[in-house]
Amino acid sequence: MNKETNPYLWMEKSLQTIHRANWYRQVKNINSLPDSIIKINGKNLLNFASNNYLGLAGDNLLIESAIQATKQYGTGSTGSRLLTGHNPLHQELETAIATLKQTESALVFSSGYLANLGTIPCLVGKKDLILGDEYNHSSLKNGAKLSNADFINYKHCNIKDLELKLNSNRVKYRRCLIITDSVFSMDGDLCPLPELITLSKKFDTMLLIDEAHATGIMGKNGGGCAEYFNCNGAELVQIGTLSKALGSLGGYVAGSGVLIDFLKNRCPTWIYTTGLSPADTAAALTAIKIIKNEPKRREKLWQNVNLFKKKLSEFKIEFLPSKSPIICLQLDTPLSALNLAKKLENKGIFAPAIRPPTVPTSRIRFTLMATHTDEQITYLADSIDISRKD
Ligand SMILES: *Cc1c(COP(=O)(O)O)cnc(C)c1O
Repeated sequence: MNKETNPYLWMEKSLQTIHRANWYRQVKNINSLPDSIIKINGKNLLNFASNNYLGLAGDNLLIESAIQATKQYGTGSTGSRLLTGHNPLHQELETAIATLKQTESALVFSSGYLANLGTIPCLVGKKDLILGDEYNHSSLKNGAKLSNADFINYKHCNIKDLELKLNSNRVKYRRCLIITDSVFSMDGDLCPLPELITLSKKFDTMLLIDEAHATGIMGKNGGGCAEYFNCNGAELVQIGTLSKALGSLGGYVAGSGVLIDFLKNRCPTWIYTTGLSPADTAAALTAIKIIKNEPKRREKLWQNVNLFKKKLSEFKIEFLPSKSPIICLQLDTPLSALNLAKKLENKGIFAPAIRPPTVPTSRIRFTLMATHTDEQITYLADSIDISRKD
């Protein structure tokens, strides 16, 4: 076949465009346990890029419980939860999630992404409207697309803009759903949950929050932003992941018993996929127990966040508004973000440049962990100060 008629040729061209824009990315080999120091491409680096906020993904208790569950129930769940893929650990984990989230019920999915892709189209369809924060995670945006509902973005965390859009559109639709990250994954700020709840009541609208980066770390007991804002009483659809602070793999939906019962009967990304593996299920369950029994880990994480912010302020280094362990330095161009990331890497620090199209403006995104030491955080702040000047 001659080249002109090769139907795949466009991909190379598209990749060239990606390269030219400095948007190209590739995987890195991590060859160690996922803790505050990781081995990347053979080199030990201080890890300020992980979602493993409490250091649980490499914790012995989680590892042991995963091994135990594998020996007891096997490596795979072998089928859909409704057929052969349900074991007692799933039930125990769902009860533990509902308790952590203070909801009637919960349901685990194979990933947080799948929880969003499946749940949103279950809640709304063609006659309905979704309003979403413009900075929402990809899984919320794609869940909205799959639903076939009309979709409107509102300005980031802007209640006035949302109210305006509800005012002029709500009456035209049957059901309406507001969707938002609770901790914004690439910014680190929080959605204005109490105000969102007030609006959702005023406009008879459902409200779905994605607690992926909040679960296990926000709120007094690690219950997420719903707990942090004292909004546990409100009827919400709460989605989250088992793969960040909980150190495992999988996602969940927490909410009313009716919601969960409905999803079990209607949600294709739960019904037509294999149940979570025994190892992942057991690890997440152990993580929730640790989160309940060892609040010190959470306290240390917040001490680390405060220390890092204090150091940045002393150096007069500006960072994006954040109320979470995600702290970002904004940079003018993808190239300047890449350059700063490279300089930090030369000093033994791993923190990635996050660029369009993931985010509207380029930045370096730092995430703190409970297992970082004060010295490591001080070294990070010093290194940023030196690197931005040379
Ligand atoms: C990471 C993330 C997800 C996806 O969760 P996975 O379990 O990794 O698939 C969904 N939403 C948000 C906001 C996230 O940050």
